[in-house]
Amino acid sequence: MPAAQPPRPGAASPDARRPAANPWSVDLRELGRRAGSMQELERTLPAPADWRVELIGVPEGAEVRLRLRLESAMEGVLVSGEVDVPVTGSCARCLEPIEDTLELDVQELFAYAGSTTEATSEEDEVRRVEGDHIDLEPMVRDLVVLGLPLAPTCTEDCAGLCVDCGQRLDDLPADHTHEQLDPRWAGLARRFGASQPDRFASAPGTPGADNPEEN
Ligand SMILES: [Zn+2]
Ligand SMILES: [Zn+2]
Repeated sequence: MPAAQPPRPGAASPDARRPAANPWSVDLRELGRRAGSMQELERTLPAPADWRVELIGVPEGAEVRLRLRLESAMEGVLVSGEVDVPVTGSCARCLEPIEDTLELDVQELFAYAGSTTEATSEEDEVRRVEGDHIDLEPMVRDLVVLGLPLAPTCTEDCAGLCVDCGQRLDDLPADHTHEQLDPRWAGLARRFGASQPDRFASAPGTPGADNPEEN
């Protein structure tokens, strides 16, 4: 998965990326370079398409809320604050749909061109100030993707699915079981379809002990 390409210093066409057209781009001219100056930044931006892992992700276009503080430091611009993103997916245990909001804390330095941090870091080790701008999208994407659970669950203690009938255990009575089929009834069960073993699970001779329609 190629990361968004940071423009090379001295790239031939500075307009190629057009920071003004990228809603995730932040103009630093107001903040200035004086160490210690600070700026609050609140934005709600549409999520790009690829913020997801296998079972859960941010719907494309969903509102990502940024509440950030930008601080000018010697080496670059320190960005800190909170990011809220809506996520949708399915439970890894019972496959129920999940809707949630991830609340993530962020703190990252965007290094100035020519700073020691920039000079001593590999290309992909540090985020960089690009001219008068920083692009928040790669930072927030990394934060979100790393924050997404690989095995999301609908509730903390979701019990998953019944291995015998495939229904959600949390929707079934606590005593839900599938009794071993009495071998004497096996032939009958086969005749009427083995997919409904419940119908024949009651011990013979105890009518009404178990209502087969109950679950
Ligand atoms: Zn579940
Ligand atoms: Zn079951």
